[in-house]
Amino acid sequence: MKYDIVTIDGDGIGPEVCQSAIQVLREACGSDRLNFMPFDGGALHYQRSGQVLPEDTLTACRSAHAMLHGAAGLPGVTYADGTEVGNDLHLQLRFKLDLFANVRPIRLYSGVKSPLADFSAGQIDYVIVRENTEGLYASRGAGVNLRGEVVTDTLVMTRVGVERIAKFSFDLARRRQGAPRDHQRRVTVCDKANILKSYAFFRAVCTEVAQSYADVEIDYAYADAITVHMLKKPDFYDVIVAENMFGDIISDLGAGTVGGLGMAASAELGLQHGLFQGAHGSAPDIAGQDVASPIATILSGALMLRWLADRHGDAMLQQAADRVEGAVKAVLAHGDAMPGDQGGHARCSEVTQAVCRRLR
Ligand code: ATP
Repeated sequence: MKYDIVTIDGDGIGPEVCQSAIQVLREACGSDRLNFMPFDGGALHYQRSGQVLPEDTLTACRSAHAMLHGAAGLPGVTYADGTEVGNDLHLQLRFKLDLFANVRPIRLYSGVKSPLADFSAGQIDYVIVRENTEGLYASRGAGVNLRGEVVTDTLVMTRVGVERIAKFSFDLARRRQGAPRDHQRRVTVCDKANILKSYAFFRAVCTEVAQSYADVEIDYAYADAITVHMLKKPDFYDVIVAENMFGDIISDLGAGTVGGLGMAASAELGLQHGLFQGAHGSAPDIAGQDVASPIATILSGALMLRWLADRHGDAMLQQAADRVEGAVKAVLAHGDAMPGDQGGHARCSEVTQAVCRRLR
């Protein structure tokens, strides 16, 4: 089977890292399995055309097997209310294609230095599942600014939305091997149930869902406290499920513990569609210099192969995903080409070549 993959380079470092991932995926799968179809979108495209997500891009995304994206957003390109235009590319895709589960693996690789001195490769290996279509960000654009004196945004939770993200998280825990510390399968519910009704509801619905998963432990942590736990006992975590904004924040923190944003992969999944991009933004400060790390986008590409393999029962893609992850692992462990954010001097293109060499 041949897969149609819409690619959206986007802004800043987006084009460099997206093209890097495409090269690696072609190397892993052969040139005839993946049909990459480039489309426009992002802040720069908005400046040119007035559209951040053009209609033809959205149409292509609807009918493709998967989407691969670099990054979108430029600091100066904003709407009248001050919010950034670029974010609208993936926000619109999330809502229009119902990409409700944002899966962000936090894994420390051998050869990568963690700021957590007591932990080494294998001891930090968990997944943050960020609810992607509700929560505080769901009301983007609909907040109220009253006379420039009082401003509100509304936090939205629905039973359907919380139930499906909770089920997704427990199902994911079942497919994993448990937390590195004790091999216990565990879902940690991250909220502020002690403060707001919405978060108390999130916790209650997750607890109801847990009843059907006797083999997976349920655990709770407040969003403020978990920032400390993620530093002091990261090996305790297996799957963490969080409301949209909390998931956004703690996944950057998690990335910081395993080498930074340049290491952090991300998959945004619905029942029909999947969008894959690094967890980082467009990093305009280092754009166009061939110095960005492509690792996050390459690992997101591996998540894409795995997701396609599961959906279509394609063992070859499953093997290709393993090979891409193995190649990245080897490049980092042996120091073939260490990107700048890992203390090395390898350019984006050199890291890409090194991963391709390992694949060959
Ligand atoms: P957004 O809000 O769109 O997610 P952000 O404000 O979190 O974006 P990023 O664009 O993710 O910011 O970048 C933050 C910093 O992290 C950048 O300035 C850059 O130095 C670093 N960074 C991000 N991604 C990479 C990468 N792939 N390689 C190297 N450094 C990166």
